[in-house]
Amino acid sequence: MAQATGQKKPVMEAKEVKRDFYQFIINGERTDSSSGETFTTYNPATGEALAEVAKATRDDAERAVQAARNAFENGKWKRYPVGKRARVLNKIASIMRSRFNELVELEVLNSGKSLSAAQGQVMQSIEDFEFYAGAIVGHRGKVNNVPGGFFNYSQNEPVGVCAQIIPWNYPMMMASWKVAPAIATGCSVVLKPASLTPLTAIVLTEICHEAGVPEGVVNIVPGSGAVVGDYLVEHPEVDKVAFTGSTPVGKDIMGKASKTLKRITLELGGKSPNLVFDDADIDAAVAGSLFGIFYNTGQSCEARSRLYVQEGIYDEFMEKFVEKTKALKLGDPLNKETHLGAIISNDQLEIIDSYVQSAKEEGATILEGGKRLDIEGFENGHWYAPTIITDVTPDMKAVREEIFGPVVVVQKFSDEKEAVKQANDTEYGLGSAVWTTDHGRAKRVADQIRAGIVMVNCPFSAFPGTPFGGYKQSGFGRELSIETLDLYTEEKSVLSYHGSRPLNPFGV
Ligand code: NAD
Ligand code: MN
Repeated sequence: MAQATGQKKPVMEAKEVKRDFYQFIINGERTDSSSGETFTTYNPATGEALAEVAKATRDDAERAVQAARNAFENGKWKRYPVGKRARVLNKIASIMRSRFNELVELEVLNSGKSLSAAQGQVMQSIEDFEFYAGAIVGHRGKVNNVPGGFFNYSQNEPVGVCAQIIPWNYPMMMASWKVAPAIATGCSVVLKPASLTPLTAIVLTEICHEAGVPEGVVNIVPGSGAVVGDYLVEHPEVDKVAFTGSTPVGKDIMGKASKTLKRITLELGGKSPNLVFDDADIDAAVAGSLFGIFYNTGQSCEARSRLYVQEGIYDEFMEKFVEKTKALKLGDPLNKETHLGAIISNDQLEIIDSYVQSAKEEGATILEGGKRLDIEGFENGHWYAPTIITDVTPDMKAVREEIFGPVVVVQKFSDEKEAVKQANDTEYGLGSAVWTTDHGRAKRVADQIRAGIVMVNCPFSAFPGTPFGGYKQSGFGRELSIETLDLYTEEKSVLSYHGSRPLNPFGV
């Protein structure tokens, strides 16, 4: 319940996390669309309508930018002692913790992902706020070397108003990766969630206010990417765009952001290789490769979607890999036994299936899966079988392009050199994995892979603190890490003179 506090505006609380109608938030107030329009958001597992959401327009985006600008120029957030901002970030985390089950449920309902996946992601979102609460306190400037009599220090100042545009595959985690470091540094934010999955990002924004983030510092405008997203990217009063999404949209954003030289961070697509060497611990490699592609139903930018297995263990590995793939459970996302949830939308389902069909037409073998599924009780949801494709060649569409679904293409290699060459034969460079018990080889191969992330004998790609981001056309900038704070700040050099005699360089 809102309380009278004597402040200009009531303190916002998340109320019920799950409800029928969600307004968006500008300048600390829940608001309807300037057009009065709403849109429906669905449960991808059932195909049923989940809630109505106020639909932001360009006018609403304009109001949000003005609120963020005003908070940045005139507000107190960036002037707070850093310990006070850290305390608010920790408060956000503790409110999220106290509402953990509700947040997980809402994330499952809006994204169709499995309970276990959502639990891990909401937990990481909480830990992201805790991580940046700690990291910002240690994020200091420096004293630089200058001749005696002079003094020079650098300080990191918040970059300003940040437009943060996020995708549907990790709705809450992407919102947290973006908002936590931005507000830690003192920036203001206009967050644009994916139209398919706006709910947990809206609730996170409410929680930010409940925890004490002042009005205007975090604003959220759910709406179309082409309308609201584009408006933010073009806006001269936006200082930075942080974007996670597809590579084509990332390129478009980079072009548009150049007009006012906005700072940009781009986390884009991937086609990450997974190399299994003869000397690998086979069971660990099978389990890790399975998770590497099928986690989050394959809808992961760092999904290890190109599997390369060395000749000597190929048959044994594949036998186990297929057997484990068959054992994966799809079904009720809220059931804790479920491994794979639904595909986000029917459009995405069609994209996935068209890649599988194209591989088939080009002569590949669909070893497992390769079809839509009807799940009892979830007949109107969007489901696709975990799919393994073999007999592929490096030029096939399914090998080159990001599918963003539960589909892995498998190839053989003979030696280390060939493995590295195949791994790097892509325009992307986000994730990668190496499975070997030879520590020398692990290091050699990790060194040669052109990607931002290498997992060695490890199914996971990141924890709070791990730099996450791409080489090549997977984008640039790193999130989730200490360095991310640098990307939300400008470095200011302050040079002063402390000598006893006045300086007169012209000598006139
Ligand atoms: P998308 O690029 O279509 O959309 C991402 C976001 O951008 C959405 O909020 C969307 O509304 C917005 N958007 C769309 N067009 C825009 C425009 N012209 N201007 C401004 N904003 C616009 O991607 P998607 O379909 O939501 O997500 C799937 C893609 O995201 C995949 O290709 C995947 O690789 C990528 N992804 C990358 C990462 C990463 O960390 N590198 C993480 C998750 C997803
Ligand atoms: Mn899209």
